[in-house]
Amino acid sequence: MKINLTEAARLLHEAQTVILTSHIRPDGDSVGSTLGLMHFLRGIGKDARVMIDDEIPRIFRVLPGIDRIERPAEGRRYAADLLVVCDVEMKRTGAVVPSVDAARVLNIDHHVTNDEAAEYLYLDPSRAATCEIMCELIRAMGGTISLDAATCLYTGIATDTGFFRFSNTTPHTMHTAAELIEIGVKPNVIAVAMEMKSYDEVMAQVRAIESLEMFCDGRVAAVFIDEARAREVKTTEGLLDSLRVIEGTQIVFFMKWLEPDTYRVSMRSKGVNVSRIAQTFDGGGHIRAAGCTLHAPFDEARRMILAAIGKELNA
Ligand code: 5GP
Ligand code: MN
Repeated sequence: MKINLTEAARLLHEAQTVILTSHIRPDGDSVGSTLGLMHFLRGIGKDARVMIDDEIPRIFRVLPGIDRIERPAEGRRYAADLLVVCDVEMKRTGAVVPSVDAARVLNIDHHVTNDEAAEYLYLDPSRAATCEIMCELIRAMGGTISLDAATCLYTGIATDTGFFRFSNTTPHTMHTAAELIEIGVKPNVIAVAMEMKSYDEVMAQVRAIESLEMFCDGRVAAVFIDEARAREVKTTEGLLDSLRVIEGTQIVFFMKWLEPDTYRVSMRSKGVNVSRIAQTFDGGGHIRAAGCTLHAPFDEARRMILAAIGKELNA
């Protein structure tokens, strides 16, 4: 059921023990929004914990409270008054949603493709990041944002907007970021931390870019990362940013081996609706940034995604 911000604020006020979670393959907005809200809730005396069912990339070590993030233990049950699912729909939290017994479930998200399966859903697709929504939510609760919370929330806004360059960046986004900077967040510190890669990661990415292929008369640029290459390409962070600069491209994407006969696809566009492409494979996202998982051998997965992209481009 869709609810408004005041109702979401009330659900949080009414809960004492709160479990916060987000999607697997965590990014700045998922880690930032859960940790940011955790700091605020703990500040007002609630028993709040963050659970994410995946490894947390090293770049997020700059975020206060990062060591507090737990991974659900196999077979264990967790109880809470409220489970808050942030920046994702219910079904992409790995083992968290299935192992939590919560009296109520609140989903806070900004993805247009949200399946609206949650008991209570606060969805605002006009916001660039879930962290932007969290700032409004904290205000709606009559609270103030600490520096720890601000640092987490700023990070999610910065990463989901490509550091305020993508089309989802609005005056509201900038005002919110400005407020967080007034609280004391250092934009340069966050930017440096988010961009950091090891030498090996840079070299692996260079090799990945070397295998770049162009399709659809130069409107599509793609990198295919098979099993062997996936073992060295540890991070794809920033890979699509290097592709989108290519003149004439409308869609850029990579397809990367995840496990046998399973490939991750991540797409960026300059206007074509890539979330629609992702949805045909049970994925989702935003108009200009979306992803999905393909279950097929390499050649077939490659053919499937290229066909779907070609169809949407020519629609
Ligand atoms: P990325 O390409 O950075 O993994 O994801 C781009 C956007 O699409 C993000 O907002 C992300 O949450 C969303 N997204 C990526 N993969 C999936 C997926 O498999 N399902 C859904 N629903 N959204 C996805
Ligand atoms: Mn997000």
